[in-house]
Amino acid sequence: MKAPGSDTRPADRSRPAPGDEAPPGTPGTGEDICPECDGTGRRDGRRCENCAGTGKIIRGIGGA
Ligand SMILES: [Zn+2]
Repeated sequence: MKAPGSDTRPADRSRPAPGDEAPPGTPGTGEDICPECDGTGRRDGRRCENCAGTGKIIRGIGGA
């Protein structure tokens, strides 16, 4: 029973989220609060796709 377009899976950090600027662990990057969901990992009662529900994205932090 799964409504089309309703993604309620838990946070998934096993693969890059759409909002990531680089894969996790990439030198010169770090976690940042997801701007789409303000770190909640959820939008409109559904998992935030930008951060895959983690509330965080990987962002370049400079210095590279
Ligand atoms: Zn998000």
